Amino acid sequence: MHELSIANAILDAVRQEAEKHPGARVTKVAVRVGELAGIDPEALDFGFTALVKGSDLEPLALEIEPLPRRHRCRQCGGTFAVSDARLACPECGSAESVMVSGDEMELAYMEVEET
Ligand SMILES: [Zn+2]
Repeated sequence: MHELSIANAILDAVRQEAEKHPGARVTKVAVRVGELAGIDPEALDFGFTALVKGSDLEPLALEIEPLPRRHRCRQCGGTFAVSDARLACPECGSAESVMVSGDEMELAYMEVEET
């Protein structure tokens, strides 16, 4: 399961962050998931919860922020969110655009609590 390895990678990042804060614990981690990343947020959440349960990181909350697909217009250089697969630039109407984001998965932030 693809999402389980992603959940594992998130937990690795959390452990690395926790090492930088002795005496504190990470209580929440947020990730941004592009809508074209091929990641099922529900499956990711499920895998994450299963991995955290019973581990040294429990309790740890996961927040998944969806990241819309964005294109950059080749004509005017503007960027815009693509909805309903409408790829034309809303500024100048050009259909010449390239995808600039929407297929990534990145860490957004972590909440660290002093104990
Ligand atoms: Zn344009």
